[in-house]
Formats: sequence, C-alpha cells, structure tokens
Amino acid sequence: MSILVTGGNGFIGSHTCVELAEAGYDFIIMDNCSNSDEKNIEVIQKIIGKNFKFYNADMRDFNGVDGIFKENTIDSVIHFAGLKAVGESVEKPLEYYENNVSGTINVLKAMNKNSCKNIIFSSSATVYGLNNKVPFEETMPLSAINPYGQSKIMIEKILTDLCKADLEWSAVILRYFNPIGAHESGLLGENPKGIPNNLIPYINHVALGDLPYLNIFGNDYDTPDGTGVRDYIHVVDLAKGHIKAMDYGFKHKGAEVFNLGSGKGTSVFEIVKAYEKASGKKIKYKIIGRRAGDVGMCYADIRKAEKVLDWHAKYDIEKMCRDSWNFIKKQHGN
Ligand code: NAD
Ligand code: UDP
Repeated sequence: MSILVTGGNGFIGSHTCVELAEAGYDFIIMDNCSNSDEKNIEVIQKIIGKNFKFYNADMRDFNGVDGIFKENTIDSVIHFAGLKAVGESVEKPLEYYENNVSGTINVLKAMNKNSCKNIIFSSSATVYGLNNKVPFEETMPLSAINPYGQSKIMIEKILTDLCKADLEWSAVILRYFNPIGAHESGLLGENPKGIPNNLIPYINHVALGDLPYLNIFGNDYDTPDGTGVRDYIHVVDLAKGHIKAMDYGFKHKGAEVFNLGSGKGTSVFEIVKAYEKASGKKIKYKIIGRRAGDVGMCYADIRKAEKVLDWHAKYDIEKMCRDSWNFIKKQHGN
C-alpha cells in the first residue's frame, strides 16, 4: 500500500510518516515547505532507516499534483497540507481560502481523475466554535469565527458532499484537539518561525531563556483555576490515530468524523507546573487579558474514536512536556 502524505514535512505529518513506516506502509511526501524545513525529510529517513520519495510541490498547482498521481500508484491520501495560523488567517483571508480550500479541491480533483478515492483529512476542534458545551461531540453544530476555522468547515462539507455524490469515496475527517510533544528521539517536533502563538512553543522559548516570561491570557474563566482549559494530545498518539483512521477508511465508504483528543482538560497553570517539573526550569509568567476568540474550555468526547477506531491516547501531560523540552533543547544545542 502506498500513501501520499500532503504536508508530510510538517509537525503532525512528519510524526505520522514515522508511524506509517512502523506499520509497514510505503509513503510519498508532497510539501511546499512553506511552513517547514526541508531538512525534516532527512530526519524522517534517519528515524525510519529508509528512503522515500519527496516532492517539493504546491497543492495549488493542479498539474503538479496530478503528475504525482501519474508517476505513482497511490492507494490513499493523508491530507495535512494547509496554513494553520488563526491570527494570520484573519489578516489574509484570501490566502487562507486559496491555499486550504482551493488547494484541497485540487488534491481531490487529481485523486478523482486518477481513481484514488480514499482520504484522511486534518480538521480541527476549532470547528466547534464558541457556543457548544464540553465535552465536544462529533454531532454538535459547527461554527467558526475566523477564516482558518471556516476553511476547515468548508472542506469537511466538500468531503461530505463528494462522498454523497460518489459512493466509491471514503473520507475520514479527524478533528484534532491540541497536539503537543515531540518524537522521543528529540529529532522531530514543533518549532515555528518567529514569536510562537501557541502555548507549548511559547513556553519552550521561556524555558530556553529567549523569552522573559509567558503571558497567560486570562485567569477569570469559569474553569477550576480560572485559566483556559484545553485537551492536549501527544503528537505521537495523534499520529497513531491516523493509522487506525486509514485502516477504517479502507474498509468503509462514505464520510465519517472522529475527534482525536485525550478526552481530558488541562489548564494553563497545570501545563506550566508540568513543564517546570519536566524541564527543571522556572517558567515565569504574567497574567494579562483574555485573547480574542478564546473559549474557556475545550476538550473532546472521545468515545467514538475509542469504540469505532479502537484508538485512545496513551501519553500523559508529563511525557508531552518532557518530549517538548527534549526536542527544543536539542534544536538549540543544549
Ligand atoms: P504544519 O504547518 O507543521 O504542517 C503543514 C505542512 O503543510 C507544512 O509542512 C507546510 O509547508 C505544508 N503546506 C502548506 N501549504 C501547502 C501547499 N499549498 N502545498 C503543499 N504543502 C503545503 O502544521 P501541522 O501542525 O502539522 O498541521 C497539519 C494539519 O493539521 C493542518 O491542516 C492543520 O490545519 C491541522 N491542525 C493542526 C493543529 C495543530 O495544533 N497543530 C490542530 C488542528 C488541526
Ligand atoms: N495561552 C496563553 N498564553 C500563550 C498562548 C496560549 O495563556 O502565550 C493559553 C490560551 O489562552 C489557551 C491555551 O493557552 O487557553 C492553549 O492555547 P493555544 O494557542 O496553544 O491553543 P488553542 O487556544 O488554539 O487551543
């Protein structure tokens, strides 16, 4: 079986490629490296101990994507490629819709043309919007307050419509909660360019001493300690979820949605404490106002993934923080 992994050079995609190899699948990566370092390809090859094909290609170029299908026999696509910065999506909506939505339509058209009708898609918990009550269930109404979230809702709809129109299609839609952590080797992980927006990448740099303190966005939420609660999931657990989702997709036609999270909520204060323990570093912080668009609590109802995919997250917050710290330390030669 050969799998095309779009965005396979990125954070979640690279970890998933390692798990694909582990499970005995061949894969090909297509990535334009707009948000990742091409060196990751060598790192993945080093971890799995073998080579694979890599196309430095942009999914917005239909002929390029079509060419990959012509040159290879592809049984399924795991589709990670996309832009993911919420704030940037508000500033550059056209770029986000063009890249995420038009890019995905190109991938789907190329798949259709080459009779590959099996896809796993990276959606997000952000599609649950601001009005649902935790834990979030797959059947809840969807809404988005920014173009990034809207692009995920649109793609989910496109996939659902495609599966209705052509009964040969299979689309497994995975709504990720908050992936953190890194590969145990410390060679793969998340290290965004510039000042990070997300909690763990920010804390990583406070621990390294590059940033003086963490700004905590609000301690007046209706949560046990007042800070925001999220469902953090180790990226390796998440990557393993894709193998289960793909196996499911090979056996079932139609569109199906699954939450991939741990099912547990953890507050910002709890993360700070766990990270301090894992790294032995003091994480200084200041409480500032809430960040626009943030919900107080976000965690998954994971019963469907447990029951149907026979999957659940194994690693706890301590392990997630340990692996994040191990990765960032290695990146900075500490
Ligand atoms: P990432 O940015 O590390 O990986 C995405 C990869 O896609 C990058 O390597 C980038 O270069 C590539 N890419 C972007 N546009 C492309 C294009 N037009 N053509 C080819 N390649 C392109 O992000 P990630 O964290 O690994 O996320 C993967 C997917 O999961 C994304 O679709 C993201 O929206 C979704 N997701 C991520 C999170 C998260 O917190 N990381 C949460 C929910 C959903
Ligand atoms: N957060 C914070 N300071 C930061 C970044 C994040 O206090 O510099 C909080 C944020 O308000 C939320 C949690 O940490 O409660 C996780 O934020 P992140 O951006 O990582 O994920 P998301 O909010 O997109 O789920």
